[in-house]
Order: sequence, then structure tokens, then C-alpha cells
Amino acid sequence: MNRHIAIYPGSFDPFTNGHLDIVHRGLEIFDRLIIAVASNSDKKGLFSVSERVEMISQLVKDDPRVEVETFDGLLVDYVVAKQARVILRGLRAVTDFEFEFQLAQMNHTVCEQVETLFMMTSPECAYLSSSIVKEVGRLNGDISKFVPSLVKEQLLKKFAEG
Ligand code: ADP
Repeated sequence: MNRHIAIYPGSFDPFTNGHLDIVHRGLEIFDRLIIAVASNSDKKGLFSVSERVEMISQLVKDDPRVEVETFDGLLVDYVVAKQARVILRGLRAVTDFEFEFQLAQMNHTVCEQVETLFMMTSPECAYLSSSIVKEVGRLNGDISKFVPSLVKEQLLKKFAEG
């Protein structure tokens, strides 16, 4: 069991500056981070799972401490398979809390050795979510401050495709 790896799971549809902030801060604490894109979510994404993996991989390609993968099935099974024991999650408003609390307790009950650690959002990312970015982008708002430029380009391309 490796104490120095954390798994950062999510939908990342798409990856925002809020996600990137958690990755950067997570790397101050853990030696390695695995960004794990959920591929069995009920949510139909704007980007396919492989498009998301491709984009995130581009964004973190210069840092050998970060890997990008997909997982399906139970998250705790994936965490154990990776020989990790920490799930890293971000918390924004109190509205995140209820769901995250339930999820963390469920995961810990299913697999006692797995712990979920929460990192509070940075104030400048507190209002940022993938869905709000998609909404603003779809309505032709400027999303430059919310997502890395690569993600912005891909979003604009998606919207142009209709
Ligand atoms: P999920 O569908 O699993 O919630 P998301 O891609 O929306 O996936 O988010 C993945 C993780 O990143 C979650 O822990 C979420 O709380 C966190 N997160 C998303 N946006 C931010 C943000 N702006 N600041 C901090 N954490 C965030």
C-alpha cells in the first residue's frame, strides 16, 4: 500500500482551472497523483471520456508525478488496484458537502483502508464548475479565465460543431 499516491477522481467534463488548482496543491502533499476520469457515470458528457483523458494528459504532460487514467466500476476497487489509499476531492460551497459526505462514508464503509481527503477550493475557483463553464461558453461568454487555453479551444470547437 502506497501512502504517497492519491487518486483524484471525477468527471472532468471538461477540466477547469479549479481542477488544476487541486492537482497543483495536491502535489505539494503527495508524491504522485493519478487523475482518474470516471467512465461509468450516468451523466452524458459533452466530451467523450477519451477526449477528456487526451486533454488532461496534454495539460499535465510536463509533470512526471501525474498520470491520467480512466476507471469504471467501484472507485474503491480502483484505488486498491492502484495500491493507493487516498482519494482526493475538492470542496467548494456547502452544496458540495452533503453528496461528498455520503460518498466518502460509503467508500470508507465498503473499503476501510481507503480514506477520502478534502481540499478546500481556492477563493478564485470557488464558483467554478465544469457545468457553469459549458453554460457560459455555449452562450458565447468569455471562458478564458476559467479553463486552460487548450480546453477553451476544444470547447469552442465542440460548440462550433453544434
Ligand atoms: P464529479 O462528477 O465526480 O463531481 P467533477 O469533475 O465535477 O466530478 O469534480 C471532480 C472533483 O473536483 C470533485 O471533488 C469536485 O468537488 C472538485 N472540483 C471541481 N471544481 C472545483 C473547484 N472549482 N474548486 C475545487 N474543487 C473542485
